[in-house]
Amino acid sequence: MSVPPISMVNLDQEKRIKRAFSCCCEWCGKRSRESGLELHLLPPRPSGQNSPDPQKRLLLLCIPCHRDLHALSLPYPLQIYLVRFRPSFLRLEIRKILEYTPAPYTAPGEFDIPQIYEDCFSLRSLDLFRAGG
Ligand SMILES: [Zn+2]
Ligand SMILES: [Zn+2]
Repeated sequence: MSVPPISMVNLDQEKRIKRAFSCCCEWCGKRSRESGLELHLLPPRPSGQNSPDPQKRLLLLCIPCHRDLHALSLPYPLQIYLVRFRPSFLRLEIRKILEYTPAPYTAPGEFDIPQIYEDCFSLRSLDLFRAGG
C-alpha cells in the first residue's frame, strides 16, 4: 500500500488540525499560537511498513518540542507512543480533515510490532528520556 507524504497536508488542513487540537502541543500539552505549532512527520516504522492511517504518522508540536524531538532523535516507539495518547475524537477529526477512511477489514494475523515496543514504555520513561542525558 502506498503512503502519501506529509505534503498530503495542505495549509488549510494544517490549520484545521491545529484548531482540532485547540492549538495544544501533543508533547508538552501547552497551548500556542497557530504559528507556534508545527506538524511533525513520524519516521517510518521499524518494520518499514507504514500505517495507511495519516493521523498515525503526524504529531502536532509546538516549535520548542519539535526542535527537541529532532535534537533527541526521539526513537519511533516513543513518537508513536505520543500518537497513541491522542483521544479518539481527535483521531476521527484528523482522519476527517485528511479525508481518510479506514479500511473496514484488517487481515487476521497482522501483528503490530511497534505496539509491542510501545508497551515497554510509559509516559514516565518518556519524561525521563527527555530529561536524561
Ligand atoms: Zn510542546
Ligand atoms: Zn519534525
